[in-house]
Formats: sequence, C-alpha cells, structure tokens
Amino acid sequence: MSLPRNLPPAQPAPELLALFESPDRLPAAIRRQAEFFVFFARTIFPLLESYRVRLAPLYCAHQGRPAWDPVRLLGVLILQFVLRVPDRQAAEAVQYDQRWRLALHLPPAEAAFDPSLLVIFRHRLLESGEEKLAFTAVLDYLVQQGWVPKRSRQRLDSTHVWGLLRQMSRLECVRETLRLLLEDLEAMDRLPPSWAGYWERYVENKPDPRAGSKALQAQFVQAGQDLLAIWREAGDCWPIAARDAFVLLQRVFLENYQLDPARTLQTTRAQPTGAVHNPHEPEAHWSSKSSTKDKSWVGYKVQVAETVQERPREKGEPTANFLTAILTQDAPASDKPGLVQVLGEQKAMGLEAPSCLYVDGAYVCSETLQQAQVEGRQLRGPAPASPHRGKVFTVEAFNIQVEKRMAVCPAGRPSSNVSRLEEKKTGQVDYRIEWNQGTCEPCPLRAQCVSSGQNHRTLVVGELHSLLQARRQEMKTEAFKEEMHRRNGIEGTQSELVRGYGLRHARYRSKAKVRLQNYLIGAACNVRRLFRRIQWQAARKSQAQALPTAGLGRQ
Ligand code: SF4
Repeated sequence: MSLPRNLPPAQPAPELLALFESPDRLPAAIRRQAEFFVFFARTIFPLLESYRVRLAPLYCAHQGRPAWDPVRLLGVLILQFVLRVPDRQAAEAVQYDQRWRLALHLPPAEAAFDPSLLVIFRHRLLESGEEKLAFTAVLDYLVQQGWVPKRSRQRLDSTHVWGLLRQMSRLECVRETLRLLLEDLEAMDRLPPSWAGYWERYVENKPDPRAGSKALQAQFVQAGQDLLAIWREAGDCWPIAARDAFVLLQRVFLENYQLDPARTLQTTRAQPTGAVHNPHEPEAHWSSKSSTKDKSWVGYKVQVAETVQERPREKGEPTANFLTAILTQDAPASDKPGLVQVLGEQKAMGLEAPSCLYVDGAYVCSETLQQAQVEGRQLRGPAPASPHRGKVFTVEAFNIQVEKRMAVCPAGRPSSNVSRLEEKKTGQVDYRIEWNQGTCEPCPLRAQCVSSGQNHRTLVVGELHSLLQARRQEMKTEAFKEEMHRRNGIEGTQSELVRGYGLRHARYRSKAKVRLQNYLIGAACNVRRLFRRIQWQAARKSQAQALPTAGLGRQ
C-alpha cells in the first residue's frame, strides 16, 4: 500500500468551523463537546501532521493502492480512546459525524474507511515500533508549550489490566491447547489419521461440568498423557513441530506436568509464575496484589507517572498535571524494575529524571534509595517495615550504623561483634551484628529482645541499611506524612484512567497490542486534560476582562 497522494488541508473545512465555533447556534448541552472537536482540529491534528514523516515508512513510497491518510488514522485512534468508541463506531463517526470530519480536516466529499483498516493500521504501528508515537507526540507538545517541565516533580504507581480472555481452570487450559493444535493441523490438512481419538476427545467432546473432582483430576491426567504422546509422536515431524500451536502445547505440558524418576507422568502442584492461563492469550499471566485477600487477576500491569503541581487547585480548576509515562509490564513483574523502565522511557522521550518522585512502599528499598541519591534525584515514599520476629524487638528498635560497623541496642549497649557476609554468587553484602551472651544474660529487656532457643541477640542487615533506617525515622514525622499527600493524587488519576478510558480492561490480545492501547489511553488523557485546562484559562481570562466593565457599569 502506498502513501496517499493528497495531503489533508492545513486548516479544517471553514463551513464546519463556522458551524461549531459559533456558540449561539449550538445548544449549551452539546457546545462543550463541539469545542473539544474544534480544539482537536486546531491544535492536535496539526501536531500529528508534524509527525507524518515518522508514519511514512509504514507504507510503500510509490507502489500499491493509495492508503487512507495515516495521520488521520492516528487521530481516529486518539479520538476513539477519548470518546471510548470501538472501531466500527469510529468508522461510522468519520463518515457521518461532522465533528469528527472537522477534527480530522476531512473534506465533505471524502469517504470514510472500512473499520478493519484500523486493525491493519495498529498492526503497522506495532510492526514499525511506533506504538508510542501518539503519546510521545502529545507529550512533546506539552513540553514545548511549557505545560510539562523537562525536569519536574512526579508521582508513580502501578495498577492491573485484565487480559482479553476467559479465565480457565488448568484442565480447560490444557484441553483448549490440544484443541487449538488439532484444529490448526486439520485446517492445514496435516492431521495424522491415527489422531482421530484425540480429535473426538478434545474437539468433539467437552468435559461434563457436573463431574466430581476425582473425575476431573482423572481427565487432567489423561490430557497430560495425551499431550506427552502427541509431543513424542510429532516431535520429529517438522511440519507439525514448527507450528506455533505445537510449541505452545510443549510449554503448557511443562507448566502443568512433570515426569518422576521412573518416567511416570505427574501433575505439578501449581503452575509456575508466568504460566499460560488461556492458550488464546498466552502472554497474559496470573498475579495477585495480596497474599491474604483474593486480589488476583490474569493479564498485565501498567505503570503510570504524572507531574505534580505544587500550587493547590482552586475550586472547579481542572488539573494541571499531565501523564509522563504509561508503561506496560508483565503481571507478575515487580514495581522496582518498573521504576527503572519508566525513567529509561522518559529519558528516551527527552525528559530529565524527576527531581522528586512520590511513590508507595513497593518502590522503596535500600538499592532504589541509593540509586536515587547517586543520580541526584529524590525518591519519596515509605520504606517497607522490617520483618516481624514474633514478640521480640524488630530491627527498627536498634540504632545501627553500618558504615561505622557498630550498633546500639534498645538497652543502650553497643554491639560486641560485626561480621561482613558476602554471597559469592550474587556479590550481595550483609552484616551480622551480635551482642554476646555476657551482655544479654543480665539485661532486663532480654525477654523482649532474645527469641526462645537463643542465648544472645543477633541481627543481619544489608550494606545500605542506614538509608532504610533514616527513611523509617523520617516516616514518623508530620512533615513526611503531609508530603505523602502529594503521592495520593495518583490514585485519582488511575481512577480517571480506569473509568474514563477503560485502562483496566485490555481491548486487544497480546502484550504488544495492550502496550499500544495504554499509550493511546495516555495520549487521550493528556489531550483531554489539556483541552480542559485551556478552556478553564480562557473562561478565567474572559471573566477577568468582564470584571472592570461590570464595575464601571455599577458606578
Ligand atoms: S538483650 Fe542484649 S541486645 Fe537485647 S536489649 Fe538486652 S543487651 Fe541489648
């Protein structure tokens, strides 16, 4: 497909502008949305137009049928997420809704496109590595216009994203994996005749939902034996072994079964981290936010960062904070590597590391605090509590100075011995601190300090323990608690992204497409926040201009 021959006009159609820019002709209820489309046509579309050069490589220069304009398609993708409309509805809106035509600088005679074109366009964006183009374009504009400083205070938090899949039991997952392979081979006309039994069992039949747990377990074992037999039979048959469905089958087998030393098949007790839960979406993984409550999901995780305004907002004032990162991770991934990736991504987008980053305890450890110190930025968040040790004092009750190789216990006694422990494999350094038996034996606090079965107190702390200790001390102050209110705003932003843009549910399958979806959500959110801010400022300005006149009138 080649690039379109005619570029969109630099200005939107004047008759549409006249229609939507004259407030008297529009009912108040629909004026605000009309204003949004005018804003899009005047500000966002010209901005996207300046990124045409990055969209050009997605198409052949001269060969093939001329494409529908890619800049307009990018605009459609952003509008889709601003207004939460699916592909078919978006294509209809481009054809019949004058506001969409205005926003996309579309002349009256030009026809819309088939909705499937949006699927192809998203695929092109992913293939060319331009999935973050819309987000970057809007963020660049915000930086250029001074809405987002290059170096700013920010806050960061993660939330979960449900994958586009049905949750399956392990038996259902294994059966469905088998069915997909058999149907794939059947479609290629490569299904071995000897596999008719598997076809009957896994394609033509379904497990009885009323079956008891023993029967289901027997079916699970049977499915494992069939998986193994298929693997053995087809492992050397290249046309089958090279199929994606066969590779997936091998993975599902290894995640659910194992062979004991006697080469007998056993089911594993639980699936490993990152296991397939639904063969239609193998990249969606299980994870849980809590080890005590049922807060699990199957899908992905997203890190959201935004700027933090110092000045408190007036009543009715829209936020002046903008998203600076929206990064998709695997569901079980930790927040700490997420933080590193967010900073890396911001750097790639031309932003400097935040001068101060407000986070929750999941991002704070001695290593991340030290890294922030080295890089000249602040990481503001609560340090995780030290592990409980039954009824005895935790490490927080001790004044430990690792640099001086000494510590003072709650009874005010200095440590008797400090030893350096280095793990050879990882190079991790810890310190073991001891108070000897002679010190602890007569101590009045002994019952609160020494566990039963021990005769003196020992502690093991990391090399960077002082950083954690200082943060734990700081956490007790009112100033720190007050400062942490700045972090809490990210919860509201996540709520806005979930309710306004559908952040928590994947629209598409595969991690790459979910990543694209999240960038489009980020771009849509920033566009809408910018529009609201500009509207509010304009309203304030007109109020301010009206005030002196009103005063004169009263005199
Ligand atoms: S038991 Fe030992 S370490 Fe604990 S407070 Fe008493 S002297 Fe200090």
